Amino acid sequence: MDKKNIDWENLGFDYVATSKRYVANFRDGKWDEGILTEDSNITLNECAGVFQYAQTVFEGLKAYTTENGHIVAFRPDLNGQRMTDSAKRLEMPVFPVERFVEAVVETIRANAAYVPPFGSGATLYVRPYMFGTNPVIGVKPADEYQFRVFTTPVGPYFKGGAKPLTLCVSDFDRAAPHGTGHIKAGLNYAMSLHAIMTAHANGFDENMYLDSATRTKVEETGGANFIFITKDNTVVTPQSDTILPSITRRSLLYVAEHYLGLKVEERTVYFDEVKDFAECGLCGTAAVISPVGKIVDHGKEICFPSGVEKMGPTIQKLYDTLTGIQMGHIEAPEGWIKVIE
Ligand SMILES: *Cc1c(COP(=O)(O)O)cnc(C)c1O
Repeated sequence: MDKKNIDWENLGFDYVATSKRYVANFRDGKWDEGILTEDSNITLNECAGVFQYAQTVFEGLKAYTTENGHIVAFRPDLNGQRMTDSAKRLEMPVFPVERFVEAVVETIRANAAYVPPFGSGATLYVRPYMFGTNPVIGVKPADEYQFRVFTTPVGPYFKGGAKPLTLCVSDFDRAAPHGTGHIKAGLNYAMSLHAIMTAHANGFDENMYLDSATRTKVEETGGANFIFITKDNTVVTPQSDTILPSITRRSLLYVAEHYLGLKVEERTVYFDEVKDFAECGLCGTAAVISPVGKIVDHGKEICFPSGVEKMGPTIQKLYDTLTGIQMGHIEAPEGWIKVIE
């Protein structure tokens, strides 16, 4: 397969259309068989449910080339399961996990020429999503839906090394108790845009959101989960019903325990104890882990002793081990790597 003539190292994180995308429609209570199409546009009625009441959910994962030349995806079944959970919460039909994985695999295979070569640091970002398509004006779930998967090549996340981020404790809330913080839905992002633009305007990279009920517990940022390392090298990650269950974070905890022999704790993390941690990172598909150097709470600064200049040592080890598993030079746990070709 000839690769496209793309300057892989200098790609950013912007949409670039690829050859094929997958489309399936839900009508009369069932999904059709789905097809790959070249048409990147969607034509919908002006009153489609997605436009009126934001009935849409999405996923994000990556395909990439391993050291021995295979195109693979990382744990796509977990994205399928999470989309099932998201769809149920928004009263949308479930796109079965096996079909989800098949659609992801087919779409990646059809765009193999856009999967960046090994060593470029670039990847093919895969975006499955679903939305209500028929006219809905009275408030209720749509009856018809479309499930799609498109891909777009994205550049290396850290160009010239990972520079630690500076976060601010946000005055905005991300998720309400018993709300939708635990699902991957555009609605959680729409209302985070003002908060992130405010953080950027004030010179911060990201927001740290606290729990909205008491504003004492650490939740997550707009699009990544927290991971902390204590001074005696325990890996700690916040547990909460209003956090999006990051697949990267769950994989890192497994790696910490089973590959690195570290103690791991998934528990409530109070903001008051953050100053006592040695290292802090943000985890998600895009960067795997981004180191956090500093968190600012209304003028009060918390600096992590190892991690202001570069990634701290334990976070670096976690990063190296998980990316080693993904790239194929460290043996992966059963079922983590889906070989596409
Ligand atoms: C997608 C997402 C994450 C990261 O999840 P991964 O599965 O690791 O990519 C974290 N927080 C939020 C709010 C997200 O939407």
